[in-house]
This record gives sequence, C-alpha cells and structure tokens, in this order.
Amino acid sequence: MSTRLEAVEGDITLEHVDAVVNAANAHLAPGGGVCGAIFAAAGPGLREACEALGGAPTGEVRATAGFGLPARWILHAVGPVWHGGDQGEEELLASCYRRSVELAADLGARSLAFPAISTGIYGYPVEPAAEVAVAAVRSAVEDHPLDRVRFVCFDRRTLAAYRAALGQAPGARRR
Ligand code: ADP
Repeated sequence: MSTRLEAVEGDITLEHVDAVVNAANAHLAPGGGVCGAIFAAAGPGLREACEALGGAPTGEVRATAGFGLPARWILHAVGPVWHGGDQGEEELLASCYRRSVELAADLGARSLAFPAISTGIYGYPVEPAAEVAVAAVRSAVEDHPLDRVRFVCFDRRTLAAYRAALGQAPGARRR
C-alpha cells in the first residue's frame, strides 16, 4: 500500500493527524516559530514532558503526547542550523524526516504532519530543504508505510517549494 504525500498551506497546530512533528531545538525547550506555536497550543504539560526527556542530538527525534493539540503525539525533531551546507546539514535534515517516519510507524500512527524543519530561524534555504524532505519521506515510507504524510507550509513560497519537490502543479494549491 502506498503512502499519500501532500503539501498544504496552514497552521500545523490545527492539524487533525495522529502525529505532528515539531521543529525542535536540542534542548526540546519552547522557542519561536512553529516550536513556540506548538508549545502555546499544547499547554503546560508539554514543557514538563520535554524537560523530562532532557534534550536530543541534531537529526534525532523524541516523542511526547499531544496534550492540547488535536494530534495524539508530537514528534520533536531537532533540525540542523544552516552553516552554508558543508557541515552535514543535508544528512541531518534528512535524518529528521526519516526518523520521524520511523517513530510514527513504531507508535502506530497512520497520519503524520511535518512543518518545513530548519527553514525559519535555522536558515536552511527552503527549496533544497523541500527536496530533502520529500526524498527522505519517500524513502522512509517504503519500509515504514503510513496512510498519509502532509507537509504543512506556513507561507506560499514554502508551499510552492514543496509542490515542486512533489512534482505537483503550483495551481493545485488549496484555498
Ligand atoms: P527552525 O528553527 O527549524 O528553522 P522555524 O519555526 O523558525 O523552525 O521555521 C520552520 C518553518 O515553520 C518556517 O517555514 C516557518 O514559517 C514555519 N512555521 C511557523 N509557524 C508555523 C505553524 N504554526 N505551522 C506551520 N509552520 C509554521
């Protein structure tokens, strides 16, 4: 059975999927961007759960409950900071996507939503990041199939990058 991959414009905290991925920092602490939005929407229980985990290395993923989110689980993926591309950023970013799919499958999740990890405060250029994301997820679901993987893009440029990486026409945008 093949996994459906899709890109939409939206706010990941509102996604009704089994698991949402957070673009986390290595301390698994509340931050800005999508991380701040997820902590705010999930409520104080998330901060306690993350403190108990004690951090994670770049490229790795840790699971917590979803608390106040519609999603049952939050997968905290520590993306790489962009340093120009010669410090293993691509492999570390691919690892975030691959490990998230693996962890989702281990937990029994069938649907998963990703933000554009590392492309905000961490500075990874969005077009190559979208290519890495789509390639890593396509490869990971071969061994760990899910029903649906959704790339939730916060702006149109990010959506266009994902649509291109997925080989979809830009006009297919959801309104
Ligand atoms: P990082 O530190 O990994 O770069 P950011 O949160 O700064 O993480 O940015 C990652 C991406 O998440 C950016 O494209 C940003 O616009 C987007 N983003 C911010 N808030 C949300 C949200 N509520 N839902 C989905 N994506 C979001």
